[in-house]
Amino acid sequence: MAVAEFETPRLKEYPVIPILQAGAMAHSRPFVAAAPIQKALGFPGELVENWQEKAIARMGELLAKYRSLKVYLDACVHCGACADKCHYFLGTGDPKNMPVARQDLMRKIYRRYFTLAGKYFPKLVGAEDLTREVLDEWYSYFNQCSECRRCSVFCPYGIDTAEITMAARDIMDAIGMGQKYSNEIIGKVHKIGNNLGLPGPALEDTLAGLEEDIKDATGADVRLPLDVQGAEVLLVTPSADFFSEPHVESLIGYAKVFHQAGISWTLSSHASEAGNFGLFIGSYEQMRKISMRVREAALELGVKRIAVGECGHAWRVAYSFWNTLIGPFDFLDRNYPAPQHICEVTYDLIRRGALTLDKEANDQRIVTFHDSCNVARGSRMGNMPRGQCIIPREIIKACVNHFHDMAPETIHENTFCCGGGGGLLSDDLIELRVKGALPRMEALKQVVDEHGVNFMATICAICKAQFSKVLPYYKFDMDMVGGVHQLVSGAIRLGTKQ
Ligand code: SF4
Ligand code: SF4
Repeated sequence: MAVAEFETPRLKEYPVIPILQAGAMAHSRPFVAAAPIQKALGFPGELVENWQEKAIARMGELLAKYRSLKVYLDACVHCGACADKCHYFLGTGDPKNMPVARQDLMRKIYRRYFTLAGKYFPKLVGAEDLTREVLDEWYSYFNQCSECRRCSVFCPYGIDTAEITMAARDIMDAIGMGQKYSNEIIGKVHKIGNNLGLPGPALEDTLAGLEEDIKDATGADVRLPLDVQGAEVLLVTPSADFFSEPHVESLIGYAKVFHQAGISWTLSSHASEAGNFGLFIGSYEQMRKISMRVREAALELGVKRIAVGECGHAWRVAYSFWNTLIGPFDFLDRNYPAPQHICEVTYDLIRRGALTLDKEANDQRIVTFHDSCNVARGSRMGNMPRGQCIIPREIIKACVNHFHDMAPETIHENTFCCGGGGGLLSDDLIELRVKGALPRMEALKQVVDEHGVNFMATICAICKAQFSKVLPYYKFDMDMVGGVHQLVSGAIRLGTKQ
């Protein structure tokens, strides 16, 4: 599919409800997965002949299994409170990107085949047949939802559009219409262990190279250990941390933290990926299979603790699903019976005075923080209310002298998705990604203009990759995004050369 030509939206003062542009994003659809990619995950290679019948049957299975899905499809009163809350609607003006309209794509099919009124009086209740046209609309618009759940915060019934999107993607996979980007990545994890397809020896070389870089920069022998038996902590981090900029700066930060605190730790070549795209395609089976590598590695290495690096959806999966999917974690240290976020580890060490931090070393940075949606709305940290929003900010404030939050309606649980989450971080969706980033870019511009902010920290690999790509479209410097542990790395004092 040719990438559509498009204009980058103009930055305005937030919030402005866009003028409706019906069908503005109807052309946006990601590449469909080819047969080998589909089959590797156990899905049909291409659209099956009796796809309509199979899709309805799969919807019936999901409705029976997940009561929440049925409740969400029944409960909406079309009040419109969610209508202007989605970044993809705000950035594109396409009314089908209003969360309620996205839900209705499934609701009208649900009513037609699973409610009495829809079976006998379809027109009266807005029910519709599942035609090829409807399926194509599903493929387009359920791949324009990053499953960020912002809309659900504002829905008086708490209807979670992300769950509806996940169900739609599950159904499309089941009939052979999966999305290439996510399914290809899941296949790589099953085969090699990480999203990038980086094999163990290449990972080992990469880590050795980074150790040399740190030695050159600081004079300290900071290790990035791999597959160390009996280490105290197993760190599972997004594979982007191993080589992409700015991600790798955070990996160096984690290593410096463990080094200075004197905590033995290790990475694993078997579980060299924290990301879990099983969440994005709505498959708990794939999510479990990917997560299982973490349990296997932890048991094999005999670690006492598991920590998760800077990755938003990885932390959501670890926090919300690991215990059910791959628990119990009764083999871990009783003081750390559940996986921790790396920010919890670092925050705890800062509070105990175990780290030497020099804020002045980051004085060139005027910092803001972008809450990643899966962390802000789908998890917690530090066993305190809103810890997932408080802890990263406390770490930043311990590492820099200049910090300014963006507008309150755009942070914490109100945060906007970066525009590239939920399996949409592919080049064939660049128009959607740029337009979906609009609300965050508008909030960023405000703190840039008012406070001279020149660095936006985040704790998500997808946010980092997405912003690096889209910031230049809005005339910002691509280097102004980075990790919280990049700031820790800059501030931590160790070795002889700093
Ligand atoms: S979950 Fe996020 S991306 Fe999806 S409809 Fe709601 S606000 Fe939009
Ligand atoms: S806010 Fe909730 S009830 Fe209202 S239209 Fe949106 S999904 Fe429906």
